[in-house]
Amino acid sequence: MIQNKEIAIIGGGPGGLTLARLLQLKGANVEVYERDLNKDARVQGTTLDMHEESGLAALRKAQLLDEFKKNYRPGADKLIIVNENAETFFSDHENKPEEDFGNEHFRPEIDRGPLRKMLLGSLQPDTVVWDSQFLSMEKQGDGWRLHFKNETSAYADIVIGADGANSKIRPYITPIRYFYSGVTAVEGSVSNPETDTPDIYQLRKGGRILALGGGNFLGGGSKGDGSFSFIASYKTDEDWVKNSGIDFADKTQVLAWFKKNFPGWSNVVSSERT
Ligand SMILES: Cc1cc2nc3c(=O)[nH]c(=O)nc-3n(C[C@H](O)[C@H](O)[C@H](O)COP(=O)(O)OP(=O)(O)OC[C@H]3O[C@@H](n4cnc5c(N)ncnc54)[C@H](O)[C@@H]3O)c2cc1C
Repeated sequence: MIQNKEIAIIGGGPGGLTLARLLQLKGANVEVYERDLNKDARVQGTTLDMHEESGLAALRKAQLLDEFKKNYRPGADKLIIVNENAETFFSDHENKPEEDFGNEHFRPEIDRGPLRKMLLGSLQPDTVVWDSQFLSMEKQGDGWRLHFKNETSAYADIVIGADGANSKIRPYITPIRYFYSGVTAVEGSVSNPETDTPDIYQLRKGGRILALGGGNFLGGGSKGDGSFSFIASYKTDEDWVKNSGIDFADKTQVLAWFKKNFPGWSNVVSSERT
């Protein structure tokens, strides 16, 4: 019976918070231990598209679909796919169905900030224990003693890992290590895309743009605050970020990296000011 157990979820991302909500609906005792110092500690990343059979199915079960409908961004799922010469291969701008919940092809977009806020608002007060970066755990009785970076500890009967791609819980469950896919992505943001990246702005018309060419990828979409959030990815070594010597706070250095590794890309999809 989970109702008589202390459940610890490590990680307060979309996965951990949604699970906490589902468990609380079943009357379980849940704490979410999250590394962030507080709910406003960092800007949340790119917009998420939600799929009928996964994200939306979970929100339905969590009784949060109506709340989702108040927070998602209609039209942000419009898509255009181009190559490095800015030639269009796919666009659904003319024929994308209207907002169509229940249609398996409908993939509404929501910003991570409002999604997190919505999920936090659905939980019992103080469910999330902020500033709790999980470091290790050991058996204690029938359960586990958890240790955090801030030198606190906590007991749980059941521990659930929801701490993302580089999970610290994973080694307690399986010796199988994650493996590097061979592709590294650099994430960035343009505050005023209409003036600073006008060509991309015109092409994507408020939706998403994906550009592929020569094994590289550049893609992104707008966020609710009007900014354009993008990633540029390419094939490189696993330790590239550590060894590249690039100061990612210096736009000139990042641009020089981009020009070198995305040779011949049309200015339309790789505006210098990006
Ligand atoms: C550029 C990009 C675009 C993406 N777009 C989509 C998309 O459109 N749709 C989609 O479904 N997925 C998308 N993804 C994948 C997406 O990131 C995941 O679906 C989603 O964030 C997974 O949620 P999660 O809760 O499992 O993990 P995360 O979002 O990674 O959350 C993990 C949480 O655990 C916390 N944490 C980490 N380590 C610890 C620790 N040791 N102790 C305590 N807390 C810890 C983190 O601070 C974080 O809050 C995208 C990923 C990237 C990089």
